Amino acid sequence: EHIANQIAAGEVVERPSSVVKELVENAIDAGSTRVDVHVEEGGLMSIRVVDNGEGIHPDDVETAFYRHATSKITHGRDLFQITSLGFRGEALPSIAAVSKVELLTSDAEDGQARRIVIEGGRLQTHEDAAGRRGTDFTVKELFYNTPARLKYMKTIQTELGHISDVMYRMAMSHPEIAFTLRHNGNTLLQTMGNGDLLQVIAAIYGTSAAKSMLQLEAESLDYRIGGFVSLPEWTRSNRNAMSTIINGRFVRNYGLNQAILKAYHTLLPINRYPLVVMQLEMHPSLVDVNVHPAKLEVRFSKEQELYAFVEESVKELLQRQVL
Ligand code: ADP
Ligand code: MG
Repeated sequence: EHIANQIAAGEVVERPSSVVKELVENAIDAGSTRVDVHVEEGGLMSIRVVDNGEGIHPDDVETAFYRHATSKITHGRDLFQITSLGFRGEALPSIAAVSKVELLTSDAEDGQARRIVIEGGRLQTHEDAAGRRGTDFTVKELFYNTPARLKYMKTIQTELGHISDVMYRMAMSHPEIAFTLRHNGNTLLQTMGNGDLLQVIAAIYGTSAAKSMLQLEAESLDYRIGGFVSLPEWTRSNRNAMSTIINGRFVRNYGLNQAILKAYHTLLPINRYPLVVMQLEMHPSLVDVNVHPAKLEVRFSKEQELYAFVEESVKELLQRQVL
């Protein structure tokens, strides 16, 4: 309980994309190499996430839906050493409370699985079923029992936009996982899962964008930088196409974006932004991911050093290109 209090409170389930995020993060934590996401009507009608991960042990299927029963954190100190994506143990209970959930999961190769159905937090069914190793999670009629919340949902296109953003971030953070996103049967995203970040960039932004990218590679005592930045000619009107992944987690940090923009300073027309997918690796003690767990913000313990190193690395890459 004490540990839960250390984490900024906030509702897990704000809209369909929050469900997608939590379910896909669980699939990633389960070691999946394939994650298929099918949504209908912007996720408001249904969200289905199918993975080939380790599955849930039959004894743990019900407990997974109890609040904090499964939190992966055991000591307060661990907050600064988080490596798995899930650490609050409240996603499944929160989702199941406001929707109709069906879960089919197996942790074995023998074709035996468990099926559980929960509606509005109430257990309807828990039975043996046939299924292969992995987890197949369906969330239907999100917010059906909380009409006040449902009223706040925007158009199908808006909700789908948020879902696509979540999937883009997951795919960029995990080029080694094959992702698909389908909406009403149409494929919106498909990555190969062969570890090639440039292929992921092509899948999201198109092949011509991917061809305009320069490879970042730099290392200091504390930091390693990888990923891609676009040629100055290939700019966008929107800074949302500047992405940073730290230790495999998509984050937002204003200072990092500013550092990159400074490197482009003389090369970019006014109000234009480069396409960036930057990967940063550092010791977990140098980054605090818990400024706000739901909002992707992070804080660095040596931020000026990091920003200077990022600016310098990008600047050097661009200069080499111009010469
Ligand atoms: P957290 O991820 O913070 O532990 P969740 O509520 O998201 O909490 O999930 C509860 C637990 O259910 C997880 O810790 C995990 O053991 C199990 N679980 C959920 N989804 C999956 C999945 N797709 N594959 C394997 N296990 C899962
Ligand atoms: Mg989780």
